[in-house]
Amino acid sequence: MKLRTALLAAALAGVAVMVSAGRVAAADSTSKITILYDAFGTDAAMKKDWGYSALVEISGKRILFDTGNDSDIFAANVKAKNIDLTTIDFVVLSHRHSDHMAGLNHVLSVNPTVKIYAPKEGFGIYGSSLPSSFYRKDESLPQEMRYYDGKPPEVMKFGAAWQRANIEPIDKTTEIAPGITLIALVSDTPGTKELKELSLAVNTADGVVLVVGCAHPGIEKIVEAAKTINPRIRLIAGGFHLVVASDEVIAKSVTALKDSFKVENIAPGHCTGEPTFAALKQAFGDRYLYAGVGTSLPLGPDMGSVGRRGEGPSLQDDDLATYRKLAQREDPFGTLRARQQRTRLSHL
Ligand SMILES: [Zn+2]
Ligand SMILES: [Zn+2]
Repeated sequence: MKLRTALLAAALAGVAVMVSAGRVAAADSTSKITILYDAFGTDAAMKKDWGYSALVEISGKRILFDTGNDSDIFAANVKAKNIDLTTIDFVVLSHRHSDHMAGLNHVLSVNPTVKIYAPKEGFGIYGSSLPSSFYRKDESLPQEMRYYDGKPPEVMKFGAAWQRANIEPIDKTTEIAPGITLIALVSDTPGTKELKELSLAVNTADGVVLVVGCAHPGIEKIVEAAKTINPRIRLIAGGFHLVVASDEVIAKSVTALKDSFKVENIAPGHCTGEPTFAALKQAFGDRYLYAGVGTSLPLGPDMGSVGRRGEGPSLQDDDLATYRKLAQREDPFGTLRARQQRTRLSHL
């Protein structure tokens, strides 16, 4: 009897841990992602420009993820979509590259007190702080040669480029609202080494909806982190940063996303790259969701029954070996051949 009670208690405790570790944000029929900034799209009312911004509406929250490359274009696109920036809950700035943060001036002009989450970088433009214990002291110096006359504040604050903005620097992966997590990772790629980036992971009953800015830390690393929140990845939207990657690297990433991580739907944009769009479309078939500037992606339970799906045959065979073979080929997903055909046709 005692043993049974103990087992029951242990089981209940397990359930409690699972629930608290995986809080869920509700995705209903009104939940959606609207792409406000990108360099491709079909919506004539929207201006195209390099950069990224998306409005994520889910679980009663309206989250502005990134703000594009040009404040005026961003403002025009927000207006074209009739979006009221005075009622957004918070802004997430994925990283400090200007094609993601230049529209912040417009956001602040209409909503100066809005909460803004941004990566915490030492002396970065979003502001930071350090304990004054970080620097070496020399008590033998006269007071006038010492920092702060020898009496530094406990915490030294370093300013943001937007002085009065309500910026909360994020240093490590943080759940900022129930089921809504900012994944904080650092790039290790030459050229962007040590660049910090935040990705938005919303844990819904049907898996994680993941929004990425440029994916400088690596799309695979970001997905790996998202899978610790919920192993089921329902959708990834945003820039995968494969814009100059070789076909071989693209094939590896596409294989990982589809077969290793079992990503269910994909809505790539921004710096994902044209050849990667082609490879993802080929691999994901009707689970590739077109997401140009102006597109709204529904996130409710019937996600994907609406909207423009990627056309072309989907590779049904989930066998990793097939992909490995494909990845070794010169033209892994037939994209080079398709490109040559298009070029030939355009010369006719
Ligand atoms: Zn970018
Ligand atoms: Zn970037």
